[in-house]
Amino acid sequence: MNSVKNLDLTKIETMSQQRGKPFRILVVDDEPRVRDVFKEFCEVTRSVEVDIAVNGLEAVEKVQGGDYDLVTMDLIMPEMAGVEAVSRIKEMRPYLPIIIVTGNATEKLVNEAGVRGAASLLYKPVMLKDFVNEIIVTLEKSQDRRSRA
Ligand SMILES: [Mg+2]
Repeated sequence: MNSVKNLDLTKIETMSQQRGKPFRILVVDDEPRVRDVFKEFCEVTRSVEVDIAVNGLEAVEKVQGGDYDLVTMDLIMPEMAGVEAVSRIKEMRPYLPIIIVTGNATEKLVNEAGVRGAASLLYKPVMLKDFVNEIIVTLEKSQDRRSRA
């Protein structure tokens, strides 16, 4: 992950203004270092609000009780791993997009997450620029899908 300087946030800020509220993103990862970078990103823009879960179980509980626009999901975590969490979240919220962010998951695990409904995949270490771009693309697709539903 790299610094938040030089990030182009125009697009996501316009999208957020158009809907009149920030995008709520749930970041699920058991590594504090990863979570800190997402929090840092959140502090440079009012277009997103980041909430944190430290494992799959907490992620499922938070989605149950919250209203999120997007989830980023680590795969290898204690308590409940990412693939199981993706399944449970998709059962509850079929339209909630989930981006897998993984360091060393096997191809089999990554494929399984896709089968259970994950929208896309980023490999760690993730460049913040790539992360923001992926969020924008995923939110745009998600809004299109909802407006056509
Ligand atoms: Mg992990």
